[in-house]
Amino acid sequence: LRDGLSKTRKQLNDTAGNLGTDLKDTFTRLDSVEDLEYALIAADVGRTATEEILEDVRASRQPNLQQALMEALTLQLEPDARRAQFRKLGFSPDARRTVVDPKGHVVMVIGVNGVGKTTTIAKLGQYYMGRGRSVMFAAGDTFRAAAGAQLGVWGERLGVPVVQGPEGGDPAAVAFDAASARAARGTDLLFVDTAGRLHTKHNLMEELKKVRRVIDKADPGEPTEVWLVLDAVTGQNGLAQAKKFHEATPLTGVIVTKLDGTAKGGILVPIVRELGVPIKFIGVGEQADDLQPFDSQDFVRALFD
Ligand code: GDP
Repeated sequence: LRDGLSKTRKQLNDTAGNLGTDLKDTFTRLDSVEDLEYALIAADVGRTATEEILEDVRASRQPNLQQALMEALTLQLEPDARRAQFRKLGFSPDARRTVVDPKGHVVMVIGVNGVGKTTTIAKLGQYYMGRGRSVMFAAGDTFRAAAGAQLGVWGERLGVPVVQGPEGGDPAAVAFDAASARAARGTDLLFVDTAGRLHTKHNLMEELKKVRRVIDKADPGEPTEVWLVLDAVTGQNGLAQAKKFHEATPLTGVIVTKLDGTAKGGILVPIVRELGVPIKFIGVGEQADDLQPFDSQDFVRALFD
């Protein structure tokens, strides 16, 4: 994880490292507070969160700046409901970790083209199979010619069955077939790839709603998870799109990819704050095992320790 986050890590440590470790000393010098503020904003943590972090650090009982900063940042990576718990339990392994196991059997994976959706589905397959779960994929992006083929290649490589539909066919039909097949076979988890084109006449959001309805129908009684894949490199732009997806198909989780390619890993903070949805996994590379369940404490430790 430290390697995957090396760019953000370097950016933060170059500044925060210069401040020294004594909290009191740092906060009596205006220039060092400004440096810290700058480092957080440069990492895309966002203004409001940065203000809150500085307040928390200032009020911290920790004498050590780095420790206080790590705790304050961890809080910002937790949705509201869990923040209180963290405040109580502190920065410790006892604080409950994000649950990455889907509640039901079907996970719709949505997001804009190019963010790493198909690769992430492959990585998810590898992750859950490694934990003894049976997995299926549905090639629901019938719009992009290569998408089905790409998922097919991953399926073959990982030994995961892939339900395909005709190119240009109805994605809802593929999703329905796949969800029915999953139920019939008793497979533990089905990941449904979806289209991510934006600038076309077809209404992507309406299509996603329909896919969701169809899955609910094929697998009644099971909550369908909807995970949005976001590319960390696109920063704030990606977040604006994320809100549109969230309005159309309420999200139950977020996966942030390409954290290895940016010094702005702080973008996770505004993602959690503005969507109010937990981050389930982070992507830190192109290989099938470059996906990690997200843990706010591990993440912050990898940035500073
Ligand atoms: P999709 O259009 O959203 O399905 O995107 P793809 O899955 O085809 O991925 C687009 C590109 O991003 C591919 O070259 C992937 O290898 C790459 N990619 C995906 N996830 C990551 C990641 O976490 N880190 C890096 N460096 N590249 C990634």
